[in-house]
Amino acid sequence: MPALTILLSVWTTGSAAGQAIGQPDPVPHASTKATSKASHAPSEGTPSLPPMASGGPGRFPPTATGILDGKVILVDPGHNGGNFAAASIINRLIWNGRETETCDTTGTQTDSGYTEALFNWHVALYLTADLRAEGAIVVLTRTSNTGVGPCVTERAAIGNEVHANAAVSIHADGGPPGGRGFAILEPVADGINNSIVGPSAVLGADLRAAFGKGTGEPVSSYDGVDGIQPRDDLAGINLSVVPKVFIECANMRNSADAALVTSSRWQALAARAIAAGLTAFLLKHR
Ligand SMILES: [Zn+2]
Repeated sequence: MPALTILLSVWTTGSAAGQAIGQPDPVPHASTKATSKASHAPSEGTPSLPPMASGGPGRFPPTATGILDGKVILVDPGHNGGNFAAASIINRLIWNGRETETCDTTGTQTDSGYTEALFNWHVALYLTADLRAEGAIVVLTRTSNTGVGPCVTERAAIGNEVHANAAVSIHADGGPPGGRGFAILEPVADGINNSIVGPSAVLGADLRAAFGKGTGEPVSSYDGVDGIQPRDDLAGINLSVVPKVFIECANMRNSADAALVTSSRWQALAARAIAAGLTAFLLKHR
């Protein structure tokens, strides 16, 4: 298909935006604390980092042709493993479109100390592989789990710069121990993001359907209504001009959900379900 070939070649030959995106981790060897966190990696094997593309450090070209040919997808694994040892960096205040917010946070963890940052990273790697195999170009907001940040403002800016057709921030929640399930966090109009509130609601509905079907996980018993929670306090969606939602895949403080999020099999299942939701959305917008 010549049109798609041309489009792909434009993206993969690199643009000014392509060169600028994908921040290298500012603190590559963050701390011994971050290293010890990594020892909680699941025993069933972990996903591997795909090879870097030439178009930029966070940019990964398709590995096959498929139904997502020509689509650009921003995958944003929330937090970062080095954040625990970098309070002075991540606590810096930024403007999130409505109010001030910290540059980034450490995220939550299970009672046994398996970090959300690591869970998010593993799901992102599985998801990246799934989307590339369907023909998509994937842009990651971070390329390891040992760095710091980037700030949530930058996470939004990267998706905007690459004109992502869809964007997803991957998280897991630290909710009440008695509550479980997943929730989709959707943007609320703030001026900057007005044009993506509608499409993001469609994306959110597609992700909700696909995630429930693909993982069997119930919608959250405490966050949002039927698994959907509008949020106006997150830079990642306040500042986005491309369709974007967050997904809180499970509640890491709940024992049933904690057993899932620490399993590499479930991480891969979650990624596959997110890929299905993104695909359902993108096929409506060809
Ligand atoms: Zn989070």
